[in-house]
Amino acid sequence: MTGLNTKLIHGDDDTFNRVPDIIQPINVASTFEYNSDPDKLVKAKDQKISEASEVHPFYSRISHPNSLKAEAVLSTVLDGHVVVYNSGLSAFFGALTHFNPKVLAIGNGYHGSHGVANLFTRLNGLKQVSLEEYDKLGPGDIIHVETPENPYGTAHDLSFYVAEAHKRGAIVIADATFAPPPLQNPFEFGVDLVLHSGTKYFGGHSDLLAGVLVTKDIKVKHALIGDRSYLGTNISNLDSYLLLRSLRTFEIRVLKQSSNAEKIVQYLSANKDKYPVLKNIFHSSLQKEAFVSKQLKHHGPVFAIELTSSDSAKRLPSKLKYFHHATSLGGVESIIEWRAMSDPGISETILRISVGIEDVEDLIADLDHGLSSFN
Ligand SMILES: *Cc1c(COP(=O)(O)O)cnc(C)c1O
Repeated sequence: MTGLNTKLIHGDDDTFNRVPDIIQPINVASTFEYNSDPDKLVKAKDQKISEASEVHPFYSRISHPNSLKAEAVLSTVLDGHVVVYNSGLSAFFGALTHFNPKVLAIGNGYHGSHGVANLFTRLNGLKQVSLEEYDKLGPGDIIHVETPENPYGTAHDLSFYVAEAHKRGAIVIADATFAPPPLQNPFEFGVDLVLHSGTKYFGGHSDLLAGVLVTKDIKVKHALIGDRSYLGTNISNLDSYLLLRSLRTFEIRVLKQSSNAEKIVQYLSANKDKYPVLKNIFHSSLQKEAFVSKQLKHHGPVFAIELTSSDSAKRLPSKLKYFHHATSLGGVESIIEWRAMSDPGISETILRISVGIEDVEDLIADLDHGLSSFN
């Protein structure tokens, strides 16, 4: 069996190699010449746009060489058919457009996903219920489970929600942004569609926006690509070039980030008494439920801490040397965020920490110094 790193580096070897360069060029063309042989021209009415665009890119809103290469690499590692978008939220928009549920059960999680659901409520009367109100779902409806959940990095039991959804003819979308493979594979637990913000770990360098949907059903893939061509949400040329570059090192980055995060969480929970300002630590590695270790082969690199006051939460980032105070996550550099800056619904005592690939001893010393400064 081919390993993950090999697939990440060679998964697109047979896809659109138009030049002998080892690194693909950045294609900036928005349009591509049709086949030069008049006998090979197929009229639009005789073919599906989604399938034609995979064979021969002709307009970059629909597909272009580097977006097809990114999709090829991701398809070899995500256990299904992949459609790439220009952001995680446009991927969620694409999924809701395709499935068009009447009721959506959705947990707290990423605030932006609620913004997308609210657009459907405004345009289409989508009814939203909480994650625990799955008894309100019927055929064609959706449970959207984010696991691990933003900003806490805590896990939800996918098998449980899959059983409740499927009993009612509903489907489950798993937002697995916080733990992409090899950390977890939601398909092992029966989910119907997997979503990733590719901006985070697949990108990994805080310099691109991307979204990913993964389906086991090739018909769903083609329908999603068809919709995407009218939503205008295909990934851009430059971002797909950057995404391909990033994917080559994805596994070594995310495994290092995961092990760094686990060590930091372990350290903080073992030494919590040293820091009176530190009220709580949230992470899947601290959860005791049996499903957690089945679902997560490695823990996600994001966790959250709660401090005793909003004032100390606001000040902690300014006391750290190696954690940038910024939003987003998944990059090689560690980031801390006073979450009240971007999530209007969150407690003001919460800080989200995205762990990078720096040396973990330096990160721990930095947090120790910052937290001790309140003593
Ligand atoms: C960032 C994020 C998104 C949205 O992704 P964008 O690429 O920023 O649009 C969705 N879900 C989760 C869990 C995220 O962290």
